[in-house]
Amino acid sequence: MYHHVKKLMYTVNIGEPDPRFGNMLLEQFGGANGELAAAMQYSIQGFNCEDAARKDLLMDIGTEELSHLEVVGALIRMHLKPMKSDRAAAEVDPLVSIAGGGGVALVNSVGDAWTADYLKITGDLSVDLRSNIAAEARAKIVYERLINFTDDPGSKEALQFLMTREITHMRAFTAALDTMGKAQFSIGLIAPTPGLVSQFFNDSTGEEGEGESDLAGPILKAAKLEAVDSPIFDGKGLDITPTEPVANSEQTSKFDSAPVGATHRSNGSKASKKAASHRS
Ligand code: MN
Ligand code: MN
Repeated sequence: MYHHVKKLMYTVNIGEPDPRFGNMLLEQFGGANGELAAAMQYSIQGFNCEDAARKDLLMDIGTEELSHLEVVGALIRMHLKPMKSDRAAAEVDPLVSIAGGGGVALVNSVGDAWTADYLKITGDLSVDLRSNIAAEARAKIVYERLINFTDDPGSKEALQFLMTREITHMRAFTAALDTMGKAQFSIGLIAPTPGLVSQFFNDSTGEEGEGESDLAGPILKAAKLEAVDSPIFDGKGLDITPTEPVANSEQTSKFDSAPVGATHRSNGSKASKKAASHRS
């Protein structure tokens, strides 16, 4: 159940309206990393969530994002206002001024319509939480760039508030993932192939400064990945020994979403019998 409180989450005051800046702000209204996208992504993940605690978190944050939409919408309206009467301001974006009447609409800063394609919803809680952490990072950096392109103190303060909340959400989503008690790279039920999973395929060649192949060396070392060269260059290549997927071989959490397809058995094939024997 939703309830609208007739008060902004953060009171917005601006000095001189700046229609061009208002136009840029639309990115956080109807853009890919904007507030509606965040609100819909978390809320719909929440509708699907089977874990009560994480559902609660997703719904709370999804709802806060709707409140952000209202705040950023108010800020945009103030900046776009001259578009209603001033020809030069109207020319900043005819889509907004002529078609939209100088108000907010679900478009991004270049007028692309908002789309549900922006949303990352897989139905797997640990996967979705990772998407949300990344979404918050994107929202944060977009707000920071907007802050850098205005000199208006009131606008800066409102954007600082909105930017800060995204880091709060990032912390909450990170904790929601960490407290599931899963190993760092454990996704789903089928473990990746040992050996192969630790091989990094060296896909590029070059001479010295133009692409010495082991520039990524320190990163690979940190990731405990072994670099292997392509057979084209006399390397051993990836270990492509055929490997049968083993059901329930991955470490799981009691908070994981119900697995999809895991109970499917394809007519008693050898693979499915073997997989079944691995179930505990
Ligand atoms: Mn937000
Ligand atoms: Mn957020």
